[in-house]
Amino acid sequence: MARVPFEAGLVVLPEGERDLPKLLGNRCGECGAVFHPPRPVCLSCHGRSLRDAQLSGDGTLYACTHVQMPLRPGRRESRDYWVGHVDLDEGPRVQGLLSADIGEPRIGMRVALGLETLRVEDGGDEIVAHHFRPAGESA
Ligand SMILES: [Zn+2]
Repeated sequence: MARVPFEAGLVVLPEGERDLPKLLGNRCGECGAVFHPPRPVCLSCHGRSLRDAQLSGDGTLYACTHVQMPLRPGRRESRDYWVGHVDLDEGPRVQGLLSADIGEPRIGMRVALGLETLRVEDGGDEIVAHHFRPAGESA
């Protein structure tokens, strides 16, 4: 039984109980700009010397919206959810899900990266998605 990201190339799953998930990104070797998801060319200087970087996922909520459509088209189960734009401490502004138990998110609140199980497959593997949760709560 393993945890498997729903989409490859976005997140590094924790290996140990005390480890935290990380966002996959990259950093420009010429101007220092940071990106998530990783990009082949720097959007700031058009340089191509980008190196892989793992980002903490800690940041500040810049904007959010409440969505009342199914998360995945064609699926019957649905729940309301929030999507937010987060200014990561490492620099980039990224979009992502907010945790289901976030309540009423507040612009400017501190958030941290967390994981949620979308489904458990027949073999027992958990398909997980990353989200942003209020900072200070367990992942
Ligand atoms: Zn650059």
